[in-house]
Amino acid sequence: MAFVNCENITLSYEGRDVISGLTFHLEKGEYLCIVGENGSGKSTLIKGILGFVKPTEGKIFFEGIAQNEIGYLPQQTERQRDFPASVREIVISGCLNSMGWRPFYSPREKNLAARNMERLGILELSQQPYNELSGGQQQRVLLARALCAAESLLVLDEPVTGLDPLVTRDLYDLIRKLNSEGMTIIMVSHDVAGALKYADRILHLHHEGYFFGTRREYEQSPFCRMLRLGGEER
Ligand code: ADP
Repeated sequence: MAFVNCENITLSYEGRDVISGLTFHLEKGEYLCIVGENGSGKSTLIKGILGFVKPTEGKIFFEGIAQNEIGYLPQQTERQRDFPASVREIVISGCLNSMGWRPFYSPREKNLAARNMERLGILELSQQPYNELSGGQQQRVLLARALCAAESLLVLDEPVTGLDPLVTRDLYDLIRKLNSEGMTIIMVSHDVAGALKYADRILHLHHEGYFFGTRREYEQSPFCRMLRLGGEER
């Protein structure tokens, strides 16, 4: 058994299959980038991995972690950018999944939040209102929040959308650093060039099938040319 296992899964909404017959396995410490045209099912697959959408066929399972120990960085909406809470409050809320019914944060959780803010270089921002930060700082806050939940798997949905190139590179570097420290990464991205630079496995979803393999195999596959020619690169 691998660390992340998707065995012949079908994911559907109201009887309409968005993904069917998808199989892939990921080992601990690997970095997977999921690419594909709009509407190809990338976000749906992420929801499947997180357990929000149940496969109608096949199964998704993990070796050694529970689904609520997956760190998740969702796509940001405009409304979330305006969220009126302090950086610390947002980061520590990443611990909520593991707290059950307990209504207060334990010292362990407070330490975990502080450690993750330090890890991402935002400790000095901890009392600042989240909605006054730049886009790049906000992503760091959400990443620190995801790390509070993440034992060893981090799932990111389009983390660099709307960020300028310099901030994008910073965030990619940060994600790569987490990966080099042992964190397994699953990232949805529109940025094929970035995916090819950082990921060691690529999953390309397409309405007529999919590609899963190493970066080098992907570079030589028709799937790679298809996405580049289709102008999906941003
Ligand atoms: P991507 O992330 O690759 O752009 P999505 O996973 O968001 O693709 O969507 C895949 C398909 O599933 C699209 O046709 C979309 O309209 C449909 N879809 C997504 N979410 C829902 C939903 N909650 N209910 C019904 N259909 C949905």
